[in-house]
Amino acid sequence: MKAMDIKKLVRPNILKLQAYSSARSEFTGEDGIFLDANENPFGTLNRYPDPLQKELKNKLSIVKKIPAENIFIGNGSDEIIDLAFRIFCNPGKDKALTFYPTYGMYEVSAGINDTELIYVPLDKDFQVDFEGLGKYLAEENIKIIFVCSPNNPTGNVISGIEKILEQFNGIVFVDEAYMDFAETGSLVDEIDKYPNLIVSQTFSKARGLAAARVGIAFASPETIALFTKVKPPYNVSELNQRAALKTLDSNDEYQKIKTLILEQKAMLLEELPKLSVVEKVFPSDANFILAEMTDAGKVYEELIKLKIITRNRSKQVNNCLRMTVGKPEENQKLLKALKNIKINS
Ligand code: PMP
Repeated sequence: MKAMDIKKLVRPNILKLQAYSSARSEFTGEDGIFLDANENPFGTLNRYPDPLQKELKNKLSIVKKIPAENIFIGNGSDEIIDLAFRIFCNPGKDKALTFYPTYGMYEVSAGINDTELIYVPLDKDFQVDFEGLGKYLAEENIKIIFVCSPNNPTGNVISGIEKILEQFNGIVFVDEAYMDFAETGSLVDEIDKYPNLIVSQTFSKARGLAAARVGIAFASPETIALFTKVKPPYNVSELNQRAALKTLDSNDEYQKIKTLILEQKAMLLEELPKLSVVEKVFPSDANFILAEMTDAGKVYEELIKLKIITRNRSKQVNNCLRMTVGKPEENQKLLKALKNIKINS
């Protein structure tokens, strides 16, 4: 196990902070006349949810084979990203680092928390350029390195993250929002080995619950306790907790849909390169495909006219569209539309 004191990385005001003690965390029994939380006694959604989401954590603990004390539940993984800045980065002083291109919320959350975000460009295979990263690893003001794996928008699992965990003495936040779609590469089983590792996952993608806003962080109990201390008391609603529990109960459905999405992705990966508007299709470990077009802007506009909405990522990766794998009939419509687009050269 890597030896390090996480407390040294935490903002002093957060270390000192006394967490808000909610009515539901002071009295945890289920039976009684509840006159403690100023709730309305009538209705079906009238009570505050469990602030610690114990039932959901216990079930996740069984499914993921990870103790509940290593699990934090956020209002989507976007909340977890923001909380990480709030726990570790002193505004106006500390920095964070990530790679480019990647998920845009690290930059937005950094901005909200007045934290400079350093970008190290990924190499031509969208992997970490360790030479470019090297000079930053010993910089004390860099508190967090965000690694998105599989990376959005490029779609690939990032290799060599253990090397960053070994060499960097700040937090390594591995965003595995799309990891359910990948064959290998999750770092969840490494949280006991690396006290500086936080792995986030989400119910929004493979579990189909983007509307419900349920994200997960896996980390050491010490780090989890910091997240619990800083989060709003009732950050995950009762409806959202129930929705997440339900998907964990229907594992067969989850597997079935995931298999279908992966089959459809394989089909698109085979068919897209045959089209004249497509220059290059990048490999994908996620539920989306990044493809270089002959003219991404034009293709994007033509698809919009047919009510097919993709993401134009040309600013991040030259001339590229990012396409989410849809339902089989939607993917057929996409292929047909792409086939019919004529680009005047
Ligand atoms: N991380 C990545 C890499 C994402 O692409 C997204 C969603 N676009 C998120 C996190 C946010 O997910 P959630 O719905 O859990 O907030």
